Amino acid sequence: MKGTVLYGERDIRFEDRPEPTITKPTDAILRLSATCVCGSDLWPYRGIQAIAQPTPMGHEYCGIVEEVGKEVKSIKRGQFVVGSFATSDNTCVICRHGYQSSCTQREFMSAAQAPYLRVPLADGTLVATSDLPSKELIPDLLAVSDVLGTGWFAADAANVKAGSTVAVVGDGAVGLLGVLSAKQMGAERIIAMSRHAPRQKLAREFGATDIVTERGDEGVARIKELTKGIGADSVLECVGTQQSMMQAIQSIRPGGYVGYVGVPHGVSLNLETMFYSHVHLHGGPAPVRRYLPELMKLVLDGKINPGKVFDLTLPLDQVAEGYRAMDERRAIKTLLRTNGA
Ligand SMILES: [Zn+2]
Repeated sequence: MKGTVLYGERDIRFEDRPEPTITKPTDAILRLSATCVCGSDLWPYRGIQAIAQPTPMGHEYCGIVEEVGKEVKSIKRGQFVVGSFATSDNTCVICRHGYQSSCTQREFMSAAQAPYLRVPLADGTLVATSDLPSKELIPDLLAVSDVLGTGWFAADAANVKAGSTVAVVGDGAVGLLGVLSAKQMGAERIIAMSRHAPRQKLAREFGATDIVTERGDEGVARIKELTKGIGADSVLECVGTQQSMMQAIQSIRPGGYVGYVGVPHGVSLNLETMFYSHVHLHGGPAPVRRYLPELMKLVLDGKINPGKVFDLTLPLDQVAEGYRAMDERRAIKTLLRTNGA
């Protein structure tokens, strides 16, 4: 088969790769229905995060189970499944506390921008649907695998509740789905920070009530203005830069919550500033597995359409263009079609 490999800065190749096989009795092999490019793939793509050697890419996936190892019990050949970017046994004490992305047996997935994928710890990592979903639902189910799960965790970590005033920093796919998540959790006011018209429009569709185009100190001032000088109850930080993190912390009301899911790159915090802000900070790699059953049900019941964040669809062999389009911000998120299912 052919799969996606990053060789260095802006050097994505679609090339011959070994077809994955069962290597542990707890593995499953999936024939992917679709895959996609993540905002976090852009860090190594842009050379901001160094890679030691050519690296197979992709960690968002859904598809049909082709084969399972002999210790796999609940996942069966022929089922449609969704999994997360972090594998989990879903039984250890950390999993039972809902932090499956820090499972004692965790592995981070890669190599999902390919037609076939090996998933370790299949029983704990994958969630199956009861029937095969229609083709129209594939983008929505794929979005659950990472971007929606991550946006949902940002909102959950930021303690979004019915009636909350929420601000979302970042208008990438995760930030936009953070807006959708906050709306689902009953937020009354959702302020999306974005200066790009197509993203503002999608934010509004997902439930944003206000748009703030200013950034940095001006962005903070604007949020304060919109909240009678108090600040937001909850802020979702979905970028990971010094500026976005400070914007999030400074936009919060005293005692408010920042949920941060943007992978931090070179961010440092002043503990004294935080001390006087009474801020609650909670974030990290999203435990998407915790939310998969609930989010898949919302999609299957037609309650949410997170797949709208895919504004570019390409055949898998054009993956390099998929990266370029996101790098140049011509696309919010690229879906890659396989011939899988
Ligand atoms: Zn575990």
